[in-house]
Parts: sequence; structure tokens; C-alpha cells
Amino acid sequence: MTGLAERTHSSDIAGLASINHWIGGRLVEGVSGRYGPVYDPATGRQAKRVDLASVDEVGAAVAAAADAFSEWRATSISRRTEIMFRIRNLVDAHRQELAALLTAEHGKVPSDALGEVARGVENLEFACGIPHLLKGGYSEQASTGVDVYQIRQPLGVAAGITPFNFPAMVPMWMFANAIACGNTFVLKPSEKDPSASILMAQLLAEAGLPDGVFNVVQGDKVAVDAILEHPQVKAVSFVGSTPIARYIYETGTRNGKRVQALGGAKNHMVVLPDADVEMAADAAVSAAYGSAGERCMAVSVVVAVGDVADTLVEAIGARLPGITVGPGSEPSAQMGPLVTREHRDKVASYLDRSTEQGAELVADGRDHELYAEADGFFLGASLLDHVTPEMDSYQNEIFGPVLEVVRVPTYDAAVRLVNENPYGNGTAIFTRDGGAARQFQFEVQAGMVGINVPIPVPVAYYSFGGWKQSLFGDLHMYGPEGVQFYTRAKVVTSRWPDPGTSRVDLGFPRTR
Ligand code: NAD
Repeated sequence: MTGLAERTHSSDIAGLASINHWIGGRLVEGVSGRYGPVYDPATGRQAKRVDLASVDEVGAAVAAAADAFSEWRATSISRRTEIMFRIRNLVDAHRQELAALLTAEHGKVPSDALGEVARGVENLEFACGIPHLLKGGYSEQASTGVDVYQIRQPLGVAAGITPFNFPAMVPMWMFANAIACGNTFVLKPSEKDPSASILMAQLLAEAGLPDGVFNVVQGDKVAVDAILEHPQVKAVSFVGSTPIARYIYETGTRNGKRVQALGGAKNHMVVLPDADVEMAADAAVSAAYGSAGERCMAVSVVVAVGDVADTLVEAIGARLPGITVGPGSEPSAQMGPLVTREHRDKVASYLDRSTEQGAELVADGRDHELYAEADGFFLGASLLDHVTPEMDSYQNEIFGPVLEVVRVPTYDAAVRLVNENPYGNGTAIFTRDGGAARQFQFEVQAGMVGINVPIPVPVAYYSFGGWKQSLFGDLHMYGPEGVQFYTRAKVVTSRWPDPGTSRVDLGFPRTR
């Protein structure tokens, strides 16, 4: 298939490519008359525009998904598996095109974009194992002549609402398991970088997925609210910021839907005095500034314990001039621009506020020449030392290339700091002491823990999810818990008695 990237839109209006919906197996131009801008963050120019769906357009996508459900859920597991394998192979074959769209609209550099696609493909691969994953349980002779078994059945129409920072991977976290389990799906991607959703829709269709099983509605709050209100949407998976996650969870569950809503993060990396400082500094820099800090699992706080602080801050600071900031088109670039000008400026605003409140600005990303001179939304790497929990920069998720260092005297103080933080997505500890690491794993309040690993994103056969305000709902995303989320249990009790052996018995059924 060639020219796929060009086929993510159906019309050029006023010289701007228009990103449309995908409903019932084809591109559908928006008719709401509402559009959002899609920027090229590296140039700062609006490159495309995206349709913003009306309530009726969401209704059309849900109707297409609902119509497709009965046939899709009746499709044999082996046929669904065959399609999942084809989807996996087609996405694998189009990694470069997908990654190019991410660089063009999100701004992340190509190596990072390819990494995102690779982690998404792992979820497709997991879903190829659906025959094994959907096996139920069977208890023979639960009572005399009675067998009991549990089957897991799909829910119906599931919806996914996704953030700007992983426009390919996070949708794959959701739709891979959802459709493999026999559901149909409506994706509402971020309006900031919507093209990857349409390329994925094209690939799913080419893989043989029946029309209507996977749909995309582009949009904003109007589309989200229409999804949350729609009676035929049975489940909603959300990834984004904490205030919106809370809203999605509360509204969706109030409307009777099953909801998993993953929110924001403030990921702490604890460095004990016995840690290998060079290794810890490499890890902190990689995890804090990769993807310009726009990762929900980015390390945003280093917790320096005891006398490691001075050497650690020096080692981190020494690495920052070596980070090459630039557009994704520049092969040497390691860190691209931020997603929008507003977001870049908001991130930068924390630097002054934090220093006014007593932090020390060791490196100021605004000193980078691209911050002042380029039209793109660039900001260099910033490092704040002597940050305390009361400061604005600590209290908020910055979501940019700003690393904060909080100094604490002891391991216990470090754990207290992590546990008192309202977020609980990921955390990490760097140490050579296995006992300390094990104790940390035991008592830390976070959903994903790294031991000498700074970004502990679980592999696709485990599940991804935070604690506290990083997740609303019970089930984590993708992996085994994803399969659980997208299916519901049915328990069958059965017997095949010989004719003439039954009698009336008003007693409560006993098993013994
Ligand atoms: P966001 O919450 O602004 O948007 C997420 C989605 O919600 C988008 O599709 C958007 O259109 C929609 N939305 C935005 N405002 C809305 C409103 N008022 N009502 C209804 N829907 C609305 O998040 P973002 O800026 O796109 O993404 C960054 C955030 O996502 C960060 O907070 C980051 O930590 C978080 N994130 C979390 C994870 C995780 O796994 N926990 C992963 C990636 C990103």
C-alpha cells in the first residue's frame, strides 16, 4: 500500500489537509462545521485541520459499531485471531509511515516515534494470543452430575478516548484487546495529533476487519460527552490528565458504563546513597527529557537521599548540554518541540514560579537558542534543585522537559514523599542494596515500580496502570486486565439427567 499518509484525509480546504472521521469502514467528512487546528510543532505553523464531531456524528459511529457487533462477536475465535495477526503484520510493515505522522503532529523525534509504535505493536502481538486468553474455566462434577463453567463474552460497543502524547500506542493499548475479544470500537483520538488514528483505521480495514468494527470520531469535549451519554456504548477506556480522567469516570459510571480512566502522573525516582551515580544520572536524564518530558511515565522528580545529592545534581547537570534539541527532520535531534505553544509556555512558566519560591534553577531551557529564535515550540532541558513539596512546580504535573530534585535525609523520608504525593503512576529506585529495593517495592504506593529501571512501562503481557489519582476504576489497561475489562463473565451450571429421574424440590439448591 503506498501513499497511505496522504490518505489520512479526504479533502484540502483552504490549502489545509482536513483530517476526517472513519465510520463504517470509510473516511467520512465532517458536517458539523467545526474544526480544530493541527500544528507542525517543529515549525509552529498550522499544517492541517481536524473535523470536530457533533453529537449526531458520534451517533453515526456508535450506530456503525453497534450494527457490526452481532456478526463480529459470532465470528470464530480462529478467524478473529487470523485478522489480528494480519493487523499486527500490516502495522509492523508501516512503522515508518506511522512514526512520520507522529513526528509531524506531535513533534517527537523519529527514534522516539518508532519506539512508540514498537510498544504499540507489542499489544497487537499480545492480542494475537486471544484463543488462549479467552479460555474460561470448567469444573466437572461440581455437584453430582452437575458441571459448572465460566465463559467470558464481549460487552458490545467499547470506546477509547486518548491523549496527545501517544497517538498510536495508547489506541493500540485499547483496541487490540477490545476487538480481539469480540467487541466493536469507537476511537476518539486527541484532536492535537489525529492522523495516526486514520492510518491505523486504513490498516485494520486492509487486514480484513469487517466494516464498523473499528471507527474513529475526531473531536473535542462535544464528542467525548456524546460518547459518555450514548446508551449503546458499554465501556469507556480513557487516558489523559487527572481532572478529565475523574470526569470521564464519574460521568461514564453514572451512565452505567464500565470505565477505566488513567490520569496524570508525577513520577519519582529515588536515588539512595549507595547507587551508581553515573548510571542514575544517565537514567534520570533519559527518562526526564525523552519525548521532551511529555510521557506519563517520564521521571519528573529525582529524590536524592542523603549525601548523594550534590554529586548526582552535578552529574545530571553535566549531561544536559549534550542533549541535542531540534526538529524531527534533523537526524541528530534527540529532543523535539513541545506539542503546542501554549503548552510550551505553561511548562516554562513553572521555572520562574519555582525559583521565586526558593528553588535553584541549575539549567534553564529558555537559554536554548531555539526557544528564542525558532517559530517551533522548542524548550531546552531545565533542571531545578532544592525543590520542596509546597512549590507550584512540585504540586503540578509539568509534562515538559523540566526535572526537579527534592533532597531528603533518609530512605524513610523518600518513601514518605512518594507515598504522600497524590499521583501514583510509576516510581523507581536506584540502589545496589537488594534489601532496600525489596522494601521499596513492598511499601511504595504506585502502580508500576522500577528497580534500577527509570521508566517501568510493563510489557504487553502484564498490565499498565497507576494508583491514587493516576487511575480511576479497578482494572489496569492492556494485558490480562485489558481482556478482563473488555469481557464479562457468564457462569453456566448444567446437568443432563436421564428422563424420569427428576422430582419437585422447593429447597434451596445444595451441592452436597
Ligand atoms: P487531556 O486530558 O487534555 O486530553 C485527553 C483526551 O480527553 C483527549 O482526547 C481530549 O480531547 C479529551 N478532553 C480534553 N478536555 C476534555 C474535556 N474538558 N472534556 C472531555 N474531554 C476532554 O490530556 P492530554 O493533554 O491530551 O494528554 C496529556 C495527559 O495525559 C497528561 O496528564 C499525562 O500524564 C496523561 N497521560 C497519562 C497516561 C497514563 O497511562 N496514565 C498516559 C499518557 C498520558
